[in-house]
Amino acid sequence: MTTLYEGKSKIVCAGEEPGTCIIRYKDTATAGDGAKKEELPGKGRLNAAISNKIYAYLAANGIKTHLIKVIDDVTILAKQAEIVPVEVIVRNVAAGSFSKKYGVPEGSALRNTVVEFSLKSDELHDPMINDSQITAIGAATAEELAELRAAALEINRLLTALFEKAGIRLVDFKLEFGRADGELLLCDEISPDSCRLWDMQTGDKMDKDRFRRDMGGVLEGYREVLSRLDA
Ligand code: UDP
Repeated sequence: MTTLYEGKSKIVCAGEEPGTCIIRYKDTATAGDGAKKEELPGKGRLNAAISNKIYAYLAANGIKTHLIKVIDDVTILAKQAEIVPVEVIVRNVAAGSFSKKYGVPEGSALRNTVVEFSLKSDELHDPMINDSQITAIGAATAEELAELRAAALEINRLLTALFEKAGIRLVDFKLEFGRADGELLLCDEISPDSCRLWDMQTGDKMDKDRFRRDMGGVLEGYREVLSRLDA
């Protein structure tokens, strides 16, 4: 198989059918643009299972995604899309870089949902970027930005409800989209690597912050998310 791209946590190969690709989850955990890196055996399988479950739920609720089918416990077949080089971040509760940048304590409620964009670039450390900057450099058009924002808010509504049923607070998350067949599709994983997920009762973290902040129990947290979504 021809490797099209190897990222920090996934390998993408060309699929047999033109316009498709095969994406395999790896067990590698990274943080700080790859500065911190560790193998966590079983992480790929957990993230694939969680993300596949979320994708099936979103697709059933009208969200267009790149997922064609699940191949095995770490591999999916997806539509090949041209990734929009803009990460879409949605925040319901203050945490992480938002708390640091604006001096708002982690866990503070927000009066409205925050949607922000970052330029997808490891070497530039994914700088935050606004609409007029995005359109000025041609990373996306104004029409695409409007669609990304609307899709992100709808996905937030759906995911907040899904996680709430599992006793989990969806604090914030990151989405990526791609262009294929003239439309925008949700791409990349939605997993504890890309979301902040807190236990509604105890506030315990069940996401990648356990790895970023050396808290231990990383895979235990991910396993708990999967088992609650399965219940
Ligand atoms: N996030 C991500 N990939 C990135 C940056 C952020 O998946 O390259 C997710 C992160 O896990 C969190 C949300 O987006 O759920 C907001 O992250 P934040 O901007 O607070 O950055 P961080 O504190 O992770 O540096």
